[in-house]
Amino acid sequence: MDFYVSWYPGDPDYPRHDDDCAMLVSVASVARDWSMGQFNILPHRLIIDSGGYRYAIAPQESLSPPALFKRQLGILDQAPIEAIICARDYPVLDASLTSNQKDYCITQTIAYAYEFKQLAKKHRLPSHWRTMAIIQGYDEASLIYCANELKSIGFDLYGIGSLAVLKRHQPIIRRVEAVASVVGAERLHIFGVGVIETVNAFREMGIHSIDSARPAKAAAYNEILYSNPYRRFGIMEPPHIPMAGRLPKHRRLSKPLPCGCPVCKNGSSDIIGVGKRAFIRARALHNYYHLKKVFVDS
Ligand SMILES: [Zn+2]
Repeated sequence: MDFYVSWYPGDPDYPRHDDDCAMLVSVASVARDWSMGQFNILPHRLIIDSGGYRYAIAPQESLSPPALFKRQLGILDQAPIEAIICARDYPVLDASLTSNQKDYCITQTIAYAYEFKQLAKKHRLPSHWRTMAIIQGYDEASLIYCANELKSIGFDLYGIGSLAVLKRHQPIIRRVEAVASVVGAERLHIFGVGVIETVNAFREMGIHSIDSARPAKAAAYNEILYSNPYRRFGIMEPPHIPMAGRLPKHRRLSKPLPCGCPVCKNGSSDIIGVGKRAFIRARALHNYYHLKKVFVDS
């Protein structure tokens, strides 16, 4: 199972420190003229998300399918790397929508995916770039319906999102199993997961890949993660700097534990620094190093 780290402007330059780096970049989180050319060292694998979630909450920013596809190719900038390009989806964001409104989201997702498939065919993508359609639904039956429709259009890979809202482990697993029964676990990507127990279950199911923004998010909340075994710590509050933190005092570190990550291996204690963006970035890179071990190697 591959782990794609979500990348936003200001996050660490992960590919520089990991020659097997897989990254997810969303069209909606980078500037309109931004491209992969801005990285000196490219990731080994890349997913270019369609911004579907962002466009669902900010429809005024959304792009037409041809404009979106052009933008995705612009981000790729002919990069000679393995890339997955996602079709625009139409997430069912609000559980209180009527069933007609929810079905409309699914119909739109299928229509967008169909148009995306035509665009991909017309552009004759190189063989190292693959297509992914996103399965949407609000229960197992609607997910299975959408998965069957997308499968009949035909994509290299399929993604499933909007699972984090379920919060609980079992309902998430049931939905993923339902979708995997249609498209195959080995062709399924799960968007936006970070709970270790759930990720472990996905790996055992033979899921193709996951992505997570957790390294940088945890870093921003002053959290330091370690692997083997997995542990999570806060940072001891330095004198005069009142600090936000979600962990109790006895689980906060005043100095880093021994660590072989690209930040700590040379004796740096930047991961427990606060008050500068560079410290958050150092912590995010450290967290990435460990979460990748937890997600992929466990
Ligand atoms: Zn470290």
